[in-house]
Amino acid sequence: MITAPVSTTPTRTTLYQRSVAHYWDSEHNAVNVALGEIDGLHHHHYGIGEADLTVLDAPEAVREARINTELHRLEQAQADLLADHLGPVTADDWLFDAGCGHGAGSLVAHSRFGCHVDGVTLSPVQQQAATHYAERLGAGEQVTFHTADMLSTGLRTGAYTASWNNESDMYVDLDDLFAEHARLLKRGGRYVAITGVINDLHGMASRSVSRINWHYECDVHKRGAFFKALARHRLAVTTVIDLTHAALPYWRLRERSSHLATGIEADFLAAYQEGSFQYMLIAADRI
Ligand code: SAH
Repeated sequence: MITAPVSTTPTRTTLYQRSVAHYWDSEHNAVNVALGEIDGLHHHHYGIGEADLTVLDAPEAVREARINTELHRLEQAQADLLADHLGPVTADDWLFDAGCGHGAGSLVAHSRFGCHVDGVTLSPVQQQAATHYAERLGAGEQVTFHTADMLSTGLRTGAYTASWNNESDMYVDLDDLFAEHARLLKRGGRYVAITGVINDLHGMASRSVSRINWHYECDVHKRGAFFKALARHRLAVTTVIDLTHAALPYWRLRERSSHLATGIEADFLAAYQEGSFQYMLIAADRI
């Protein structure tokens, strides 16, 4: 097996990045922990697709478990959609998961393609847990997680067939981010993002978007800025899917699931419904 040389601790982290690392080191929301225990895939992103709201009326003894299973199914659908857009990947290829959380996206890609994956997170707690989950699923040899800054990973230049950010671009400067993806990707490699962006037509961040930024200590980008930054870094857009409508059922179900709701649900619903915020899949080729 080829091992990718990486720095084990992020060098020159900013005060902001230390704060983000601290947030994720100490984040143990049931919506992430309980859902991940269903099958060992701990997604830290939202979900898409129609939801079966009848789970809310299930008998009390099984209600929470049924809600968890339904929300997890929608999260899995999002991870699958992202993997659908990674392009042709073989078992010999290497993929890069930027802002990997507990590594579920890397594990989904590995189980589909049998490939190698390097995932990076700022949080050492997440990195250790992700490594544990990969080993538990028998993927520890090929899927490796690092505590590293996705803006300067130390990973190998031009070695990656595909890379992605699933709900993690809003913590970083887009020029720095796409410069690193462009460095890591082979020519012809594929970059995929699933992310929430400000609708430029609406203007600046709405009140709900500002609350989302406050809640997660992040700074979501404008849609237009995202595309301009991709173009500046040899990432030519090939696919754009507006997932805003498909994201609503997840939030509606989560808002009514008192054992899981974190308090940010109403803001996501308001932001999507008023049109100030959009949930997007954006894929680009490294040219
Ligand atoms: N992509 C994951 C997790 C999304 S949560 C999933 O889909 O489940 C956001 C993640 O971004 C966290 O793991 C956080 O540590 C990571 N992150 C934020 N800024 C980062 C940076 N500069 N470098 C690496 N990871 C970062």
